[in-house]
Amino acid sequence: MATRLERYERSYRALAAELAELRFISQGSVVVRYTTCGKAGCRCQGDPPRRHGPYYQWSRAVAGKTVSRRLTEGEAELYRGWIANRRRLEEIVARMEQISAAAGELLLRQVSPAKAPWAAKR
Ligand SMILES: [Zn+2]
Repeated sequence: MATRLERYERSYRALAAELAELRFISQGSVVVRYTTCGKAGCRCQGDPPRRHGPYYQWSRAVAGKTVSRRLTEGEAELYRGWIANRRRLEEIVARMEQISAAAGELLLRQVSPAKAPWAAKR
């Protein structure tokens, strides 16, 4: 039967392997917009209104400000994939930190007080 520490190690290695396979990442989000224009009688001001779009935008915060970039539908698909990869990256790292903290507690308990670095030099 696997010890708790072995189970932690196995879970950690599985996450590290997934991390190694992860493709490109991107911050921010993809926004889809429909707009109205100022042309009199345009369909976007009709009843019901049929607004222009969809227009795709990639938005992210740069130094506290939102910066946007216009995208085609195909580019928006790419960004959605990269953004999903980044979310997965963050989940994986958070899980690795949890496992490391739990394994760390076990390892600290295994170190005999006499050998522990903090108990050394007297
Ligand atoms: Zn219009």
